[in-house]
Amino acid sequence: DKVSQSVSHSIKESESTFQLKTNNTAQLKQQVLQIEVAIEEAENLKLLRKQANEYLTKMAATLESREKTDQDEQRALMKLLNDMKDQLSHLEQETSEYKQRLLQQKYRSHHDELTQVPNRSAYNDRAELEYRRWRRYGTDLSLALVDVDHFKNINDSYGHAAGDKTLQVIAQQMSKSLRSTDFLARWGGEEFILLLPQTSKEELEAPLEKLRDQIAKIPFKFKQQSVKITVSIGATSFAEGDDIHRVFERADKALFSAKTQGRNRCVIDKGPE
Ligand code: GH3
Ligand code: MG
Ligand code: MG
Repeated sequence: DKVSQSVSHSIKESESTFQLKTNNTAQLKQQVLQIEVAIEEAENLKLLRKQANEYLTKMAATLESREKTDQDEQRALMKLLNDMKDQLSHLEQETSEYKQRLLQQKYRSHHDELTQVPNRSAYNDRAELEYRRWRRYGTDLSLALVDVDHFKNINDSYGHAAGDKTLQVIAQQMSKSLRSTDFLARWGGEEFILLLPQTSKEELEAPLEKLRDQIAKIPFKFKQQSVKITVSIGATSFAEGDDIHRVFERADKALFSAKTQGRNRCVIDKGPE
């Protein structure tokens, strides 16, 4: 808005400067003509000298005013350019701030605030993508649910902040433990979800057992007390005719069975009945 205001102001100014210059040129022509006439009609050298002097003085004044107009115009142009430069750099800064803010918002909309791992919405996008890949290329794809055991007890015994810290540490440990192609998200509460592309049912046990074991070995300490925290895992692989929902249901059943079998274990589903 400011830029366009300055530009239209400057256009108006140049219109009036153009008018001034046109008048000025006409004046000069008139004055030259008057000198010519004076020379033509001169009979008396003394008179001619006097007249020439008068006309030359007028011409000098006209030229001077022309010079002033030129200078004013130049000054206005410089000011306009400088203003535009300032406004451009201001715009540039604003744009980069907006870009930064957009990136932050994008990050926030895809990540869980507490644990900083991807959130459920990011999981939904990724699951859709991996599902389509699996359908198209037929490569293996597995899904696992990880649920912290007796997490309510941690909150109840050591406070909500300790519970939060626990979730952060567990999420960190899982992120470290996974391959770069695996995808971890916080499903909600004390539950996490994993997508493991190019991993068959047979290949699931090793990485999930490792994950479970690493979490069980984290030396948690609350109120000077060492606390052992474990997770239960339910997992399954995508099979013929599956969709994301069905696979999730099977993993959830497997998780339930890990819980009922005594927790701190990993149950891999046998596949669709
Ligand atoms: P189970 O072994 O059967 O999974 O038992 P559990 O106690 O882990 O399961 P339950 O579903 O009974 O309790 C989950 C608790 O997790 C209850 C809820 O208050 C707590 N919780 C969920 N989200 C958060 C969170 O962001 N921070 C904290 N501190 N607690 C949370
Ligand atoms: Mg739960
Ligand atoms: Mg739980």
